[in-house]
Amino acid sequence: MTIQRKRIRPELPEVETIKNELTPYVIGRRITSVNVLWDRSVRQPSVDEFKKQLTRRKITGLARRGKYLVFSLDDGNKLIVHLRMTGALLVKPKGCEPEKYVRVVFCLDDGSVIHFRDLRKFGKMWLVKDLDEVVQKLGPEPLKSDFTAATLAKIVADRQTPIKALLVDQALIAGIGNMYADEALYAARIHPLLPARSLTKEEIRRLHSAIKNVLQAAIGNKGASTSTYLRPDGQKGSAHYEFKVAHRLGGKCECGGEVGRIVVRQRGTYYCPRCQKLTGGEA
Ligand SMILES: [Zn+2]
Repeated sequence: MTIQRKRIRPELPEVETIKNELTPYVIGRRITSVNVLWDRSVRQPSVDEFKKQLTRRKITGLARRGKYLVFSLDDGNKLIVHLRMTGALLVKPKGCEPEKYVRVVFCLDDGSVIHFRDLRKFGKMWLVKDLDEVVQKLGPEPLKSDFTAATLAKIVADRQTPIKALLVDQALIAGIGNMYADEALYAARIHPLLPARSLTKEEIRRLHSAIKNVLQAAIGNKGASTSTYLRPDGQKGSAHYEFKVAHRLGGKCECGGEVGRIVVRQRGTYYCPRCQKLTGGEA
């Protein structure tokens, strides 16, 4: 049984881990220079403006919203980073030469540097006044206390879409992607193709607590290094060792059955056909 590495992206727990671990390195630091080695990593404004406006700015805050990292700056602007598929933000000691795949380098006033390393070049950065300029609409944060079972009940109500597709829709719930949707549905013993609106009250309650538990556990394990994800210090996360179904095709479920894979709205979806029945499941 091997983890399949195709098209795995950082999700809420990975981005949250990066935020947590990067915070002590960057808060209160001033950016002394910016080097853009791959222009298309910068979406807004122009590369020249991006470098000019960031230089001499102090980083006053770092937050996560969905899968976005949001750096607050002392001039009120925000540097938004989306890692997409292979992006990573790595802290390097003084005078470190950018290695292969580094697209943007931020030099800080304590001599350290932050490398934006991005093998596939899908990662993006924006320098804007407000996150809303970049993202039209993001659903609620699933780990916040105001994301209750009642919140989830409202989201699934009247939606015919398969529950798996609903969970990864960023406009409905922010931060969940393919891996943690599969893990949450397995933990709640819900079939990924079940139409959202057909979930019972009890299934919604189970799914709600499964979402929180799965994300929280993955943050505790510093994210999943199933693919190229790395923490700011270059270490891997270990959340994938806890995966019950995600990327474990053919692996053993605790019921004795084998993990299967189906495609839901073009996304490879892992589940246990025995534990997650489409009909006739547990009441
Ligand atoms: Zn099973």
